[in-house]
Amino acid sequence: MEFPLLSNIKIVLVETSHPGNIGGVARAMKNMCMNQLRLVNPKIFPHAEATSRASGADDLLARAGIYPTLQEAIADCQLVIGASARSRTISWPEISPRESAAKCLAQSAETNIALVFGRENSGLTNQELDLCQYLLKIPCNSEYSSLNLAAAVQVVCYELFISAGEKQQNSQTDKDETPLASAEQMESFYQHLQQTLADIGFLQPEKTQSLMRKLRRIYNRTLLDTKELDILRGILRFSQNHNQDN
Ligand code: SAH
Repeated sequence: MEFPLLSNIKIVLVETSHPGNIGGVARAMKNMCMNQLRLVNPKIFPHAEATSRASGADDLLARAGIYPTLQEAIADCQLVIGASARSRTISWPEISPRESAAKCLAQSAETNIALVFGRENSGLTNQELDLCQYLLKIPCNSEYSSLNLAAAVQVVCYELFISAGEKQQNSQTDKDETPLASAEQMESFYQHLQQTLADIGFLQPEKTQSLMRKLRRIYNRTLLDTKELDILRGILRFSQNHNQDN
C-alpha cells in the first residue's frame, strides 16, 4: 500500500542509543505507510537487534540515510518539527500530533518535511530545537510523560496516516461529487411532495403547514444532491400515478 501524501515526510532520529529502538521505529513507520528514515549519528547501527525489532520492516533500515549532524539530515527540508516530551523554558510554538499531521498534509508534495525525535536518555537539546519550527508534544500523563522512542513515532505516524487517508478520500469524492440540490430545486420538490401527500389523502389541511415544516427539516438535514432528489421525485411521480390508477 502506497500513500503518496506521506512520501515527502522523513522521520529523523537523533543519536539513538539502542539499535532495538531503531528497528521498532522502522516497524512503527511501515505500519503507517511511511518509509523515509534518517539517522543522525546512531550509537550502534546496523545491528541484529535493529533488524530483529523491525520484524519485516528491515527494507526501511537498509534504505535509511545516515548523517553526522541534525543540520545535515534536515538540510533539504522546508518544514521541521521537533518532538519533545518536555515543554521548554524558551517557548517554541507547541503542537499536538494531530495538529502536526494537519500542518504536514497542508504542504505540497514538493515540500520536504522532517519530524525529529531525540535521544532515549536526554531527548533533543535546545540547539537542536532551534532548527525546528514547531515543538510537537504528545499529550499524556503529566507526571510520566516520556514515551518510548518507537511508541512516540507510532503515535505521530498514526495521526499522519489517518489524516492522509481522510484527505485522499475527500479528494476522490470531490472529483465525482454530484452537485447538491439548489434551493429552487428543493422548493419545487417540497411543492411536489405537498401535492402528492394531499393527493393520496395523507395531509390534513389544518396540519399541512406544521407537517411540511417538519418534513423540510428532515430533508434539509441531509443535504440532498441532485441525483438523490431525482430518486425522491421519481417516487412521488410513481405514487401519484398509482393513486390516479386506483
Ligand atoms: N528523557 C527524554 C525523553 C526521551 S524519549 C527527555 O526527557 O526528553 C525519546 C524521544 O521520544 C524524545 O526525544 C521525543 O522525541 C520522543 N518523545 C517521547 N515522549 C514524547 C512526548 N510525550 N511527546 C513528544 N515526543 C516524545
